[in-house]
Amino acid sequence: MRRIGVLALQGDVREHSSMLERVGARVQWVRRPEHLAELDGLVIPGGESTTIAYLLTTSGLRDPLGVALGEGLPVFGTCAGLIMLACSVSDGRSDQWSYGRLDVAVRRNGYGRQVASFEADVEVKGLGPVPGVFIRAPRIEGVGDDVHVWASYDHGDGEHPVLVRQGSAWGCSFHPELTSDTRLHELFVGAVDEALR
Ligand code: GLN
Repeated sequence: MRRIGVLALQGDVREHSSMLERVGARVQWVRRPEHLAELDGLVIPGGESTTIAYLLTTSGLRDPLGVALGEGLPVFGTCAGLIMLACSVSDGRSDQWSYGRLDVAVRRNGYGRQVASFEADVEVKGLGPVPGVFIRAPRIEGVGDDVHVWASYDHGDGEHPVLVRQGSAWGCSFHPELTSDTRLHELFVGAVDEALR
């Protein structure tokens, strides 16, 4: 059984935890640096990236998590979690920072504000349509050469990637934890498992 951390500072912590348990992972909530020990992977949930960033700093997790990510800890960032992993963030706060683990450029709230939230099926390579819940979602506006796009979506203004992978780092614009479809969590935990075998 793989031990997957969920960064439990703010956001959809419970929802991710229950999805991970459903796909057979052992869940460790990560609130302090010592919780990073012996993780096989980590989920950074959706929520609010500026709040998550603030709490990462005040909890003392910011630097140790940066080290773990630099050492290749597999990670899946959803929505605000994707923002935290991105190399470049536009429309961020002036003091917005991110880990730069995924070579993508994202625009915060790139699909519009809360009222413009929407649900749509997203076609994921090898999986077929997966329900996507987009809430003040970041839009991926650029991807580096090492980034593989697993799903794109056209919300009426051209196709943009919505699920990407760069080695052991995954990111998606939407909230797979807010549906009953566990396939993306299964995909992530399966990749973690494969890498460790
Ligand atoms: N717009 C939010 C942010 O900047 C992300 C929204 C979400 O995670 N649902 O963090």
